[in-house]
Amino acid sequence: MASIPSTIDNFIDGTYVSPVSGRRMPDLDPATSQPLGELALSGPEDVDAAVSAAHAALNGPWGRTSVEERAAVLDAIADGIEARFDELILLESYDTGKPVWTSRNIDIARAVSNFRFYAGAVRHYSTDTHSMAGALNYTLRRRLGVVALITPWNLPLYLLTWKVAPALAMGNTVVCKPSEVTPLTAHALGRIAREAGLPDGVLNIVHGLGADVGAPLCAHPKVKAISFTGGTATGHKVAAAGAAGLKKVSLELGGKNPTMVFADCDLDRTVDGVLRASFANQGQVCLCGERLLVEDSIADAFVSRLSKQAAAMEIGDPRSPETRFGSQTSLAHRDKIESYVQLARDAGGRVVTGGERPSLGAPWDDGAFYAPTIIDGLPSDSRPALEEIFGPVVTVHRFSTDDEAVAMANEVEYGLSSSVWTSNLRRAHHVAAQIEAGTVWVNTWLKRDLRVPFGGMKASGVGREGGRYSLEFFSEPKNVCIDLT
Ligand code: NAD
Repeated sequence: MASIPSTIDNFIDGTYVSPVSGRRMPDLDPATSQPLGELALSGPEDVDAAVSAAHAALNGPWGRTSVEERAAVLDAIADGIEARFDELILLESYDTGKPVWTSRNIDIARAVSNFRFYAGAVRHYSTDTHSMAGALNYTLRRRLGVVALITPWNLPLYLLTWKVAPALAMGNTVVCKPSEVTPLTAHALGRIAREAGLPDGVLNIVHGLGADVGAPLCAHPKVKAISFTGGTATGHKVAAAGAAGLKKVSLELGGKNPTMVFADCDLDRTVDGVLRASFANQGQVCLCGERLLVEDSIADAFVSRLSKQAAAMEIGDPRSPETRFGSQTSLAHRDKIESYVQLARDAGGRVVTGGERPSLGAPWDDGAFYAPTIIDGLPSDSRPALEEIFGPVVTVHRFSTDDEAVAMANEVEYGLSSSVWTSNLRRAHHVAAQIEAGTVWVNTWLKRDLRVPFGGMKASGVGREGGRYSLEFFSEPKNVCIDLT
């Protein structure tokens, strides 16, 4: 068993501190519903203390660091995560219900890559010069100051470090608000950063509920920018708070991503790829393809093969190295998933596989497990087919022409990602160009180069993260014009 802290306190100015109110709530293992520890329920006073520490740290040693020094600290944090790799894998698995296989290969591996990548990216980052008649312009990029980083529960350390690393690389100080559902690895990050030599006050972490911590953090006058990943409804509130304070805001929001399977695809590869796109992390990746569009002529055969593989997935003990499918991250979230499956049944949908809680025996029957589910026969404009479920539920819809497929892909209000499965290169380019989504994968899914722009169109967000896009979000350009006459 990982050494799980019995109290999960805030990390402010380099020290773990209790919330001012003294209030706490249990942090649960969703696979068993057993309590793991007691989480700080912070409020505006704690937010203010964290922002004040972050603000003061701007004028401390951190404010005088060079790019090379900051890159070295990021590499040292990556070393610290690697040194605690096995412990962090378990913490993430206990907190989220995901298999250790997933937290090893995806979550914690990516947290290391995030720091290593941004250490390199900032070392190699350069800005523009603009030469004109009689003058030379050059662009400086300056830190913003104190930035707020707010993250969800599905990929806790992965998504938090995806923001922390570029924010620190550009010289900012940060106040993090991790999801109240999954605080454990963020809690561990404080100590790792301190041991890596990050000065006190540069990284602060405040735990608690969104309304009590996230909202006052977004509204705090000393916070200059907000990078938010979470649901679209919360994104609207964050955008409003940002607008009121004239803050820079980056919003990475929900999705309802179409997976488009054409009859000319490589069937074996496509079934494997679509299985991953549908059920990775128990369907709790914002990029998962919940809306499966299949060309008519192969639809029955494709759905039958996909269902067989979904039904064969190894579900159970998240701590077993064999397990590939764990529990949902909370009982409340499973309730939401079940309500959508009921909605689909009521609308005449046919459950091809899943549609129930698996029977796993004690202690897992008290957990938030839900079987991989495929539903056929629903109209593409029914609620389960249009709204984000964020779980292991895929609805199947048939098309017969490319234009019809594109129209169905674009029928949703979201525009985060999509995958296209075809062996026809011309079709791949043509369809990719027309899909309203920030990312289109062709014959693959979740292949990530950390340099590319990442983000969503329409209700899936505003702005892009990744590579230089994050370095530019977390800094401000200043043009210097030198007269040469
Ligand atoms: P959520 O919006 O409920 O919460 C996200 C974070 O915001 C949490 O830390 C929460 O405490 C905080 N929060 C809540 N109310 C707030 C407020 N008024 N002001 C500021 N912060 C507040 O989302 P969730 O349920 O934790 O996560 C699931 C959602 O995240 C899904 O919609 C999923 O698609 C999305 N997501 C998007 C991406 C992406 O990159 N686009 C990645 C992962 C998850």
